[in-house]
Amino acid sequence: MTDRCAAYCRYCTRSRLVSNASGYDFHPEFDRQIAYIAEHTEIRDVLLSGGDPMLLSDEKLEYLLGRLRAIPHVEFLRIGTRIPIFLPQRITPALCAMLRQFHPLFVSIHTNHPRELTTEVRAALGQLADAGIPLGNQSVLLRHVNDEPVVMKALVQKLLMCRVRPYYIYQCDLISGSSHLRSTVSRGLEIMDSLRGHTTGYAVPQYVIDAPGGGGKIPVNPGYILRKSATKIILRNFEGKVFEYPEAAEVAAMAPLCDPSMAFGKD
Ligand SMILES: *Cc1c(COP(=O)(O)O)cnc(C)c1O
Repeated sequence: MTDRCAAYCRYCTRSRLVSNASGYDFHPEFDRQIAYIAEHTEIRDVLLSGGDPMLLSDEKLEYLLGRLRAIPHVEFLRIGTRIPIFLPQRITPALCAMLRQFHPLFVSIHTNHPRELTTEVRAALGQLADAGIPLGNQSVLLRHVNDEPVVMKALVQKLLMCRVRPYYIYQCDLISGSSHLRSTVSRGLEIMDSLRGHTTGYAVPQYVIDAPGGGGKIPVNPGYILRKSATKIILRNFEGKVFEYPEAAEVAAMAPLCDPSMAFGKD
């Protein structure tokens, strides 16, 4: 929606685009974008990202959200923003009253360290949550910033206190100038292992690697399945204890009770 942010992150996956960094000539054509979404009835999910969409005025955001909400097949609206962290003063009662007209509207924020969740930030997040906006957090795994189990656990638990659900931890993208900030995947897996079972599942985000070349996010998880056969699975739990679990038997000659077409009732 814009190529501007309230502050610029060295490791940002869009470093090449934001702030006109390399003469990237950014002219969003909102009418054409909205016309495309309106024509494509298979689109049910629209994410407003950038740059930071919350740098736009309340009026402009209201106009664009209103246009999107008027499209019947658009079900789920989302804004990706770092404004609640970098410019919490931008989160005002007027902004929240405007946003709440467009539910279901989710907001994804971006924090990496518990010390980002200052008094001002917590107040801004509280206002968004009070407006009924489900909040999710995306973190980037950063060497010597948050690649310590104790730091990440403090972050995810503090996020729950702010009514923010930890959503993703990203392996740091291969951005030029960011190699000093990149932590290892082994370290990321160790951190995931230190969360699951050691705190509530609500505090456990999904660790992902965004595959270079447009492959999308790929979940990476610690190995909990030690062995698997047709009849059983050998698992380990968060404490390293090993368990055997029977695989369900194949049941032949029975009509499926879960008819996939039943998922689409008339309501
Ligand atoms: C992560 C990401 C999204 C959003 O993916 P969700 O899993 O729906 O949150 C969209 N576009 C790009 C380029 C992304 O990296």
